[in-house]
Amino acid sequence: MSSYEEHSIRKNLFSIGKLGYAKGDRPNVDCILCGVRDKNEIVPNLTIAETELSIVSVNLFPYNPGHIIIFPKRHIIHYLELTEDEALDIHKLTQKAMRILEKQWRVQGFNIGFNLGKNSGGSIPHIHEHIVPRFPNEAGFLDVISNTRIVIYEPYQMWDDLKKLWSEEVTD
Ligand SMILES: [Zn+2]
Repeated sequence: MSSYEEHSIRKNLFSIGKLGYAKGDRPNVDCILCGVRDKNEIVPNLTIAETELSIVSVNLFPYNPGHIIIFPKRHIIHYLELTEDEALDIHKLTQKAMRILEKQWRVQGFNIGFNLGKNSGGSIPHIHEHIVPRFPNEAGFLDVISNTRIVIYEPYQMWDDLKKLWSEEVTD
C-alpha cells in the first residue's frame, strides 16, 4: 500500500449537526472571517494556517474536497484595497496549498478566484480567495478518499487532514 493509499483510506462520516451553520444557521456576527481571525467562539474555526497578514482556512461552506479559502486579516472588501504585501502573501499561500493538493491528493485541476461585489456570487464581503480542486470524476474521487459510499468529505475531517499536511509541507 502506498503512502497515498494509507493516507486516503479512511471512513468519513458526514455529520449533519456540525454543518448546521451551512444551512442558513450562520453565527450572528458582523463578519464571519473577522470572527475566524479573532477566534470568536461562536464562529466555526477551520483555520489551517496563518501568517502575520493572512489566514488559510477550509471553506466554511465547502463544495468540493480540499476547498480552501485564503483571506487577509484586515477587513477589506475590494481587491484594490489589497496591499502588495498582502497580495504576495496570499500568492505564496496559494502556491503552498496547490502544492499540497497536487502532491497529496493528486489534484490536477483548480478553480481559483475571488467573488467581488454585487452579482458575483460572493456571500461574505470580507475579501477571500477560493481554491477549489477539480476532479475528473468528482463523485468517484469521493469514493476513493473515503473508501465508503459516503459522498461528502466532512469539513472537520478535511480540516484535520489539511492542517497535518500543511505542517508537514516543508517548502514555503
Ligand atoms: Zn471581516
